[in-house]
Amino acid sequence: MSKLVHAVSGNIEPDSINRTMIHEHIVFDLSKIRGDSVSILGWSETLFAIEEELKRLLEHGFNTIVEQTNMGMGRDPERLLRISNETNMNIIAGTGYYKEGFYPAEVAALSKEQLAEKLSNDILVGMEGTHIRAGFYGEIGSSLNEITPLERKVFECVCDSHKETGAPISTHCEMGTMVVDQMAIFDSNGIDPSKVSFGHQDLNPDLSSQKEVLKWGAYIQYDTTGKNNYRSDDDRVKGILTLLDAGYEDRIMLSCDITRSTYLKAFGGHGYVSIYEKFIPMLKNNGVTDEIIEKMLVCNPRQFLAY
Ligand SMILES: [Zn+2]
Repeated sequence: MSKLVHAVSGNIEPDSINRTMIHEHIVFDLSKIRGDSVSILGWSETLFAIEEELKRLLEHGFNTIVEQTNMGMGRDPERLLRISNETNMNIIAGTGYYKEGFYPAEVAALSKEQLAEKLSNDILVGMEGTHIRAGFYGEIGSSLNEITPLERKVFECVCDSHKETGAPISTHCEMGTMVVDQMAIFDSNGIDPSKVSFGHQDLNPDLSSQKEVLKWGAYIQYDTTGKNNYRSDDDRVKGILTLLDAGYEDRIMLSCDITRSTYLKAFGGHGYVSIYEKFIPMLKNNGVTDEIIEKMLVCNPRQFLAY
């Protein structure tokens, strides 16, 4: 059976995937947990702003968004499908649980077997009682400088479910930390490294730990580009150049990780569109070739997402 990418609108051939944002949120709500009014996306006035940006991305060769919002983060499969239909953007939805402090009660209450079954159901049947299927596990996360026992439980459930479905796994590393420890869980569970992608590595100043998981065979995401308050894009570019020098062009993927309405272009932020407005030009100015940029934006996501 040939490998396919599983979008909310249905299965698609990997070759039909063009430029891809590997770690985004477009329908999302952490406003109650964070206690603010800006951590909500995809509703009312933000919906129009997001659809406008998606259309501009499409004009610049981007046709796929990997939507990392999962259970407990305001995931809404039907809304994602509607946005996908309205904009013609491929949207790949995630299943799983984010990190401790953001988990719904079921993460502690259900057994590992029950949780793994729930995840597999999202991938194989459909999310939230619909027939809209998730296409990957993510973003599954760990806390700053630690993996809590409950987070470890989620990672192990994802490993168990992955063995049944083969769907790819995308992680959240808080400020880039714990990437080698996350790898150890996947490795000890016998997971194929080429189906794992570690998130937020552009926030991890320790390149040796990035190289360690790359050597294992996994992907890494430089997925918070444009968030200069966390780390400067200059530092992100330096990190990418070092990893490209070491030969890892087949293992790096890019995104912006928009998580607040204030990051949207229409609300005065840098927006999803900053990927082609600002970050790609920075890479080019530093000598990264078009061929390598297309690898990071197109080829690597195709390989990673198909199963
Ligand atoms: Zn994250």
